[in-house]
Amino acid sequence: MPAVSLPFNPVLLILLASWGYLCLYLAPRLKGNPLVPVEYESIIQVLALFGGPFIILGLVLADSSESAEGKNFWERLRDGVLGTMGVQPVEENRSGLQLFDATGAELSQLYGHGESGSGDRRVLGVTIQIIEDAVKHRASDILIDPKDQASYAVRMRVDGALRTVRILPAATSRAVLNSIKAVSSMDLAERRRPQDGAFTAKRGNTSVSFRVASSGALNGEKLSIRVLNQNAGRFTLVDVGMPDHQRALVLNALNKPSGMVLVCGPTGSGKTTTLYSMLNSIDRRTRNVISVEDPIEAHLPDVSQIEINAKAKITFAGSLRSILRQDPDVICVGEIRDEETAEIAVRAAQTGHLVLATIHCDSNPTALTRLLDLGVSPMLLSSGLSLVMSQRLLRKLCPKCKQPAKLTPAVAAGLRQRGVDTRLLYQASGCDFCAGTGYYGRMAVCDLLPVTDELRSEMAHNPSIAAKLRTEGEKKSRTNMRNEAFRAATAGLTSLEEFKRVVG
Ligand SMILES: [Zn+2]
Repeated sequence: MPAVSLPFNPVLLILLASWGYLCLYLAPRLKGNPLVPVEYESIIQVLALFGGPFIILGLVLADSSESAEGKNFWERLRDGVLGTMGVQPVEENRSGLQLFDATGAELSQLYGHGESGSGDRRVLGVTIQIIEDAVKHRASDILIDPKDQASYAVRMRVDGALRTVRILPAATSRAVLNSIKAVSSMDLAERRRPQDGAFTAKRGNTSVSFRVASSGALNGEKLSIRVLNQNAGRFTLVDVGMPDHQRALVLNALNKPSGMVLVCGPTGSGKTTTLYSMLNSIDRRTRNVISVEDPIEAHLPDVSQIEINAKAKITFAGSLRSILRQDPDVICVGEIRDEETAEIAVRAAQTGHLVLATIHCDSNPTALTRLLDLGVSPMLLSSGLSLVMSQRLLRKLCPKCKQPAKLTPAVAAGLRQRGVDTRLLYQASGCDFCAGTGYYGRMAVCDLLPVTDELRSEMAHNPSIAAKLRTEGEKKSRTNMRNEAFRAATAGLTSLEEFKRVVG
């Protein structure tokens, strides 16, 4: 295809015009030509006049039509011919996307033998295409694992749901795996023991970072690649989907000079994004903000970000201790995992620092009992905490294809009885924009637990607080979360099905 966006290839159009002139020139000269038998003269005249131009017109039309993979007629023809000869077609890297390792070396220098034969070029083309698809479709993870002895599946997680994007023959997959391991600074010879690595994809001024983990699997080796959300650094509490009444509570806690704001939720519930959106609502020019993360998902201006590195013995607890000597106002702890980190973080919150942290657990009451289990004294916890929030992610309905919800009369009557305007309910449909899923993007639904004086005194003085949190607190927390998710459904942001899937 020509670089300019003409509907037809101009070269072929010129050829078509020339052929027309040639036919007009030849047609009168066929009469009495000794090479043409008299009885066929007229039919050959007609063919010369119309046949040729029609063939070229056909080629022009075929050329201008592109296949789903963006290949034109000629490339498909070439691939077809090569395919019948048993040669795999070459996937060229036409996107301009380049992959770099931690030292800044480019993928083609790291993989293959430098001369980039067509085999190597093809592998690199497939690798880059996979990475490019992941970025384009906003995937959070890419999984490449053996399906059986002959093939590997490439799957992507988009808005929390996994989908298979392609099946590759085993030989190609092993080469693709090796190219990704090479650019992630991993040992290619090690196929069984788990390894970690990282690489960056760049195009122009934009870049996306990837975390790679490999391990042995049945029938080969598997790779899971996490796509770090570079946009997270620009998120605000509004982008996260937090309604006004909750945002006011969060901002109130963030504007205090000290105290701990704890975000909890299971893996993949968007805790880090919420943490970043909180940091984004803090004035970072007047307050010294330091964060410890594993890994750093996005760069935040005016924040000193420290990355955990187990190999180099940079731990959460160790980093926190050194941070406290650097006169911080706000400390962000990527995740509280151990007793030492819990103790230092809560103590910092109690001694004049605003601490933002995440903890891996289901609900606010379990977060509190978890901290107590980690050895934080009830007294310290009650004086350090200012707000606990837990969250889940709901998929948002695709704005381009959502349909008014079709409800059974019984369900509709039930909803109306609860005061719901059923005309505002929508359901998922599916279009090209949302890859047929009916959903596009996600929002957080949160349960907030402000630590009031009443709760504080109960935490400090009631020895059976843990038991009470597990029963009473747990029930209340589930109801709150359900109410928030239901509010999103009745505002037409998500469907009743998604509401049931996440909190039902
Ligand atoms: Zn759609």
